[in-house]
Amino acid sequence: MPDPLLTYIAFGGNLGDVQANFISARTAIAELEHTSLIASSYIYCTPPLGPAGQADYLNAVIAIESRLSALKLLDALQHIEQQHQRMRAEHWGPRTLDLDIIAIGNQIIGKQSIATDRLNIPHIEMHKRQFVLRPLCDIAPNWQHPRLLKSASQMLQTLLQHGETALPKGTAW
Ligand code: ATP
Ligand code: CA
Ligand code: CA
Repeated sequence: MPDPLLTYIAFGGNLGDVQANFISARTAIAELEHTSLIASSYIYCTPPLGPAGQADYLNAVIAIESRLSALKLLDALQHIEQQHQRMRAEHWGPRTLDLDIIAIGNQIIGKQSIATDRLNIPHIEMHKRQFVLRPLCDIAPNWQHPRLLKSASQMLQTLLQHGETALPKGTAW
């Protein structure tokens, strides 16, 4: 059995009772075999990415420790998305629950250059997304990106220095 790895999972959604979905998905993740919940960020309300006219999103990040392989974890997260009525219609369209694996220990998986791999770790867009970096900084400001060699708080700083508006304060859940 491999050692457990500290793993960060990003939650997103903008359809239905998103906070209720986050709470039940977090419980389902904590109940996965060989997995335990370590920390939760605040929940942030964020402007939508992708098709216009969508409702704002809620976003959060949790830390877990898991001995599951990366692909087993992805399978489990996709199963939990399905249990929350996730439909895959429009790319980046409205969804009840999106669970992305942000990072698994220091692992680098996939080509990292294009988004067509079944799994890219760290998540290929994470360093460009305030809705991932802001909550990640709540629980792991010093986490270092294994390829870019920058911390979560440095990457967030970079976005803000480039003129992005800081997200409003988050709420506990
Ligand atoms: P984005 O990945 O840009 O946030 P999305 O979350 O809307 O977009 P999805 O439709 O949820 O995209 O997922 C598309 C595919 O991305 C998934 O089927 C999965 O195989 C793949 N994928 C690659 N890397 C990851 C990762 N780190 N976490 C989750 N899914 C990933
Ligand atoms: Ca996503
Ligand atoms: Ca996803």
